[in-house]
Amino acid sequence: MRCTRTGGRGGVRRPFGQHFLFDPNILAKIIDSSGITSRDTVVEIGPGLGSLTRLLSERAGRVIAIEIDKRLIERLKENLPASENVEIITADAVTFPYDTIEGRFRVVANIPYNITSPLIFRLLQYREKIPSMTLLLQKEVARRIVASPGTKEYGALSVSVQLYTEPVLKFTVSRKAFSPPPEVDSALVHFRVHSSPVFDIKDEAMLLKLVKTAFSGRRKMIANSLRVFEGIKEALMESGINPALRPENLSVADYVRLTNALTAAGKRCNPPLRIPG
Ligand code: SAM
Repeated sequence: MRCTRTGGRGGVRRPFGQHFLFDPNILAKIIDSSGITSRDTVVEIGPGLGSLTRLLSERAGRVIAIEIDKRLIERLKENLPASENVEIITADAVTFPYDTIEGRFRVVANIPYNITSPLIFRLLQYREKIPSMTLLLQKEVARRIVASPGTKEYGALSVSVQLYTEPVLKFTVSRKAFSPPPEVDSALVHFRVHSSPVFDIKDEAMLLKLVKTAFSGRRKMIANSLRVFEGIKEALMESGINPALRPENLSVADYVRLTNALTAAGKRCNPPLRIPG
């Protein structure tokens, strides 16, 4: 995985995944893909030296920039025009309480790749407040997020994100565009976050466990990879899912139906699950 607590050229330690982007064309494409307008409040994760922040402040009504590295704050302030619509918060975006932000907000960010999954799932906890997220991610992770059933990239990450969002890969960015360059390329993903649940999920925790378990045995037939779930054969039958399929052949809707069938039958995982990864 690219990112890179120790990434960058010459093995220089970059504890916060700091690979800055200055190319004005790429920055403009990120802003255009985000679709933000002057009516929007935007939360930027990791403003760094402020190149994206500056453009966001010109386009959005208000920008809240959350940066963990205290050493960058002075330079960040110097790099920003004396605009009144930018608020800088020094905090960890993975634990930040987003409900303290008034109203709804969009997220736009070139994120540090080492926190991709925890950050996305943290933000999704507040999904009622977030109509969209536009995130520059490690290309390989972006492909897994947007993957469709039946492809080799389709896995637990695709299903868990597509339960709540519609992710679209907008364009890729060469590692050479960053300073210092990281070890892999990036891709911009725009996530339209579902404002109301698209799926009727009876037990969300059970669903996420089931998906992780299924893909931890992705070469097996689904009936085998999920055999730790009591009553799985009956639930597969009831959901109309062929037990000989592989985990990658089930759609997001299939996983929801299957979990709901287990939940309705009062089934649980037996013995208690150790969740991989
Ligand atoms: N937005 C800038 C740009 O595009 O040039 C910087 C992007 S750089 C890939 C990631 C930024 O996120 C750095 O400024 C880093 O200090 C910050 N960062 C890393 N971990 C963070 C965290 N947990 N919370 C908030 N900011 C973080």
